[in-house]
Amino acid sequence: MKIAVLSRNKNLYSTRRLIEAAEVRGHEVFIYDVLRCYMNITSMRPSIHYKGENLTGFDAVIPRIGASVTFYGTAVLRQFEMMGVYPLNESVAITRSRDKLRSLQLLARKGIGLPVTGFAHSPDDVEDMLNMVGGAPAVIKLLEGTQGIGVVLAETKKAAASVIEAFMGLKANILIQEFIKEAGGADIRCLVVGGKVVAAMKRQGKEGEFRSNLHRGGSAAVVRLTPEERSTAVRAASIMGLNVCGVDILRSNHGPVVMEVNSSPGLEGIENSTGKDVAGLIIEFIEKNSKPNRTKTRGRG
Ligand code: ADP
Repeated sequence: MKIAVLSRNKNLYSTRRLIEAAEVRGHEVFIYDVLRCYMNITSMRPSIHYKGENLTGFDAVIPRIGASVTFYGTAVLRQFEMMGVYPLNESVAITRSRDKLRSLQLLARKGIGLPVTGFAHSPDDVEDMLNMVGGAPAVIKLLEGTQGIGVVLAETKKAAASVIEAFMGLKANILIQEFIKEAGGADIRCLVVGGKVVAAMKRQGKEGEFRSNLHRGGSAAVVRLTPEERSTAVRAASIMGLNVCGVDILRSNHGPVVMEVNSSPGLEGIENSTGKDVAGLIIEFIEKNSKPNRTKTRGRG
């Protein structure tokens, strides 16, 4: 197969592993910086160009699109879809997953366990909304945050109100969430490929830190999932329409609750802590599923 990888940096662990896994299996792999791709969107003959070259003949495209380039990145991916190239994850599903509020609404609609979460536009009703999510302590999150930045634990109602007012004053969109204390600063990352959890790790925040992000100094270890956690992760991936994703789960007193579904999950932490060849499984999935024009939307929607 001829595979395109959309990645801004070919030296990143995940990108390198995907290239390696594809080449080991005899595929041809080309890496493109998504911001350097330009497109001709004229009727009926969509094309993509890169540094003067016309990109044609691809069987599959692997999007590794960072949160900061979602808008342009998904437009380029959509162009591949319009050309009939099989996308590992579809542009529509990636766009959907990048909006935290929209994702939570979609998951809630299908009955997936979630932390009690509030969202408001006006600062006038902050007090009532805090009560709605169970009062303090509460977690306040910037909708656009990643890697744990912009996730704040407010211990008291007063602190929560001040943080909310400050964020709102900056015109930032925020979520207010029940604090799952019993998770003990840990969460579970489930790596889903083609409707199966192929690897899972428990991430533990460093001493005194409620955020478990590896970027914030957390550590990772293998974990055994309960059947309920496994099925929650698989269902969340399917609701979001993602073939490959990382589903982050907290262990709460009321069962597993989903915090986030990540459409470009990093492979370094999960491969190193579990010893699994996740990149290889992703390429195998593409081998089994890629067919010309096999996209649900072909760039629509
Ligand atoms: P990001 O997308 O920036 O990583 P998350 O929503 O995943 O933000 O939050 C970062 C970390 O903070 C999570 O991995 C988890 O450990 C912790 N956390 C987030 N929300 C809650 C919550 N409601 N209760 C307890 N811990 C939480």
